[in-house]
Amino acid sequence: MPAADNRYANSRAAFAHAKTLMPGGVNSPARAFGAVGGEPLFIARAEGPHLWDLDGNRYLDYIGSWGPMILGHAYPAVVEALAAAVPLGTSYGAPTEGESALAQLIIDSVPSVERVRLVNSGTEATMSAIRLARGYTGRDRVVKFAGNYHGHVDSLLVAAGSAAATLAVPNSPGVTAGTAADTIVLPYNDAAALEEAFAKQGDEIAAVIFEPVCGNMGVVVPSPAFVEALSNLPREHGALLVCDEVMTGFRLSLGGAQERLGLEPDLTTLGKIVGGGLPVGAYGGRSDVMAKVLPEGPVFQAGTLSGNPLATAAGCATLRALRENPPYEKLEKLGERLEKGLAGAAKAAGVPSVVQRMGSMVTLFFHDGPVRSWSDAAECDTARFGRYFWEMLDRNIYLPCSQYEALFISAAHTEADIDATIAAAKEAIAAAA
Ligand code: PMP
Repeated sequence: MPAADNRYANSRAAFAHAKTLMPGGVNSPARAFGAVGGEPLFIARAEGPHLWDLDGNRYLDYIGSWGPMILGHAYPAVVEALAAAVPLGTSYGAPTEGESALAQLIIDSVPSVERVRLVNSGTEATMSAIRLARGYTGRDRVVKFAGNYHGHVDSLLVAAGSAAATLAVPNSPGVTAGTAADTIVLPYNDAAALEEAFAKQGDEIAAVIFEPVCGNMGVVVPSPAFVEALSNLPREHGALLVCDEVMTGFRLSLGGAQERLGLEPDLTTLGKIVGGGLPVGAYGGRSDVMAKVLPEGPVFQAGTLSGNPLATAAGCATLRALRENPPYEKLEKLGERLEKGLAGAAKAAGVPSVVQRMGSMVTLFFHDGPVRSWSDAAECDTARFGRYFWEMLDRNIYLPCSQYEALFISAAHTEADIDATIAAAKEAIAAAA
């Protein structure tokens, strides 16, 4: 539980007020700290790898806005691009060259993306990609994997992230049984289950959507057999492969997880980093599939603020920085250092645990043995995670507030930051044991 002193007093007062105004006091549930049994911090500002809360506490930030801030906060080139864009007007609802610039940067970076449509969030990207896949194939069913989260799209809000169901039962009131019925939920990392689904109803499946490296049950890396099944089965049965790189895109490499895993999806969804901290999503892929999107084709999709000039300015500045000065080697080294340090800290404390990582995405699972799928993840000691989380927060380390999330390292983090985090984790894991 949180420290008993008044260290978080201003955040608590702000949260009490916010709760009278917004459901749960927040505009997105993950940030409410509900999974760790406490109240969220209210953030006043951020710079580099650091956040400051309303009480003036400074933290090393491993959420990074849940992924976008790969360059660190208030990155000068992004701030300058925004400052230059604002006086030119903030939205026109008409085409701009900034949109083409961002589209070009995405197409140049992700080889499977031949053409792209910009939207305003990851949810919009996956929702639109699923509609497009259905429109293109003329089929209704979609395969998703338990523990994978693709935003709050009705048909994908089934066994999403921390939800335990593995049947196609909606995770939320308001998602109709009819909507969920077209979704086939399979276990992640289970090539045989995918093969069986295609053998049984392959001619009804429009698409397989998946997280190429899962972040939404904590970091779970796909096995080579699973990657191979994803590469082959949809193609053999005339279904589209939709690689959801909202989290992994531009994070695991310029070409995303698909580049690292050697995947060639038909469609890719992006978000988070492509907006440089502003609301942007994108979906793109094969030119002949994208040709079905309105106004070129018949599949409807639109957005008043899509391609907004501030969003494209921040997105372009971020992707240019990543392309001109790729941080991926540095992030790999920092990630490896943190992985080893956390594993050592947990081992020293005698706590059953496993650290899973790809690049700058890391999860310390309080689980005895590897986590390959949601059924493994569900066995984690989430109560221990909650205690660990607060012990870390009290030591000025701001971690994702759930066992079932990846932490994100940014290019602004230093080796000294990682070492300080490991030192804090040694104490925190022991205190939480
Ligand atoms: N897909 C994945 C893999 C995600 O991680 C997320 C968000 N965490 C989404 C889609 C939804 O993105 P957004 O929150 O921008 O709607």
